[in-house]
Amino acid sequence: MRATHTDVYIDSRGRRLERMSLAQRKALRRQYKAKIPVWRQPLVGYLASVPLVALALLTTSTLRGALGDFHFPSALLILAVLIVATVWGVGPSLFTLFLSAVLLEYNFALPPNQFLIRNWVDGVQLLPFLVSGMIVAIITAQRERARLKTLMAEQELQEYAQELEEINRKLEDASQMKDRFLSIASHELKTPITTIRGQAQLALRRLSKQRSSPDNLEGVQSALERINDQTSRLTSLIDELLDVSSIRNGKAELRKRRTDLRDICREVVEDQRLLTGRSILLDMPSEPVKLSIDADRISQVLVNLVSNAVKYSPEESAVEVCVQQEPEDVLIQVRDYGKGIPEDQQAQIFETFYRTPDAEASTKQGLGLGLAISREIVERHEGQIWCESQPGKGSSFFVKLPLR
Ligand code: ADP
Repeated sequence: MRATHTDVYIDSRGRRLERMSLAQRKALRRQYKAKIPVWRQPLVGYLASVPLVALALLTTSTLRGALGDFHFPSALLILAVLIVATVWGVGPSLFTLFLSAVLLEYNFALPPNQFLIRNWVDGVQLLPFLVSGMIVAIITAQRERARLKTLMAEQELQEYAQELEEINRKLEDASQMKDRFLSIASHELKTPITTIRGQAQLALRRLSKQRSSPDNLEGVQSALERINDQTSRLTSLIDELLDVSSIRNGKAELRKRRTDLRDICREVVEDQRLLTGRSILLDMPSEPVKLSIDADRISQVLVNLVSNAVKYSPEESAVEVCVQQEPEDVLIQVRDYGKGIPEDQQAQIFETFYRTPDAEASTKQGLGLGLAISREIVERHEGQIWCESQPGKGSSFFVKLPLR
């Protein structure tokens, strides 16, 4: 439990009320005192109040002598109370008030040198001075309370910040461990899978060379084909996993060179047109769009986005790629007219292995890694990647890369 922890109550009007225990208040007061300089400690205030009151009295007497009749004998004393309250707080100010009241009564209200309030008339004469002094003390007490509350809030914030830092550190450790595990597991899996695939392909080649294969070998051939297909899927999964972890760990160095982004877009779009037979429109500026980028990696991002747009939209619909140069950045938009992505899933699709329920339910194959890799690549280029989509109307993926 925090040292400054308070009980929080909600009143009938829904306001938050906090109640501090006595021990918490004492602890806070101690901390508050430790923070203020020595000359502002209450003890110094008690000591300072004596000469201050004496000075006020002396000045009042002098003024009385000089002006003949001085009508406000308590004015300078209330000033002393005010100064003590402002500098030293509520305790010393009450002491100053008490001292001033006694000396005021002794010096000005009673017949000279009498030290007793004789009747209620004497008492009433002191009342305005006492009330003003009490008001000063109450305001000071409120100020001190507010200061204590601020201190408490500061401490709580500090403790929350420390807790958050600790949680962040643990999360980072866990994430690094996960990446390390992924990287080791992928490396270890890669060799046996490549061997299995190689053997399957070798056997397939041998089978195909046999002019007449016996009937019972047909089953073997289709089994080998399935092994080949599945190991090929596994290989691409492992490659993507290795890609994610190497980009994340910073192992994959970016080889940045000044490149005309239009060349990359043109190449990716032409390849995708050939591969998929789909209509992909390309809209680019007529002037070169020169950027310092790793062309292979940015091309990988574009391939991911365009192939997703093709994969998750109807055969007959078009896909559009648009490049726009802005004063500080370049914006690439990949648009499709597919089913779209609900808003609550739009941020998640950039996480590793996330696939929307729609994609999971469909026959479209995928691993949920393409967008995660794309985000890592774009962010390492100090750019941004995001998705805007309206279910039923399609999706747009944006990549913003800085021109500098
Ligand atoms: P996958 O290999 O599954 O396509 P990605 O990381 O490329 O992996 O994409 C993650 C998920 O984001 C996809 O499974 C799909 O649910 C969703 N998605 C990506 N692009 C689109 C798109 N153009 N339209 C609809 N959904 C998309």
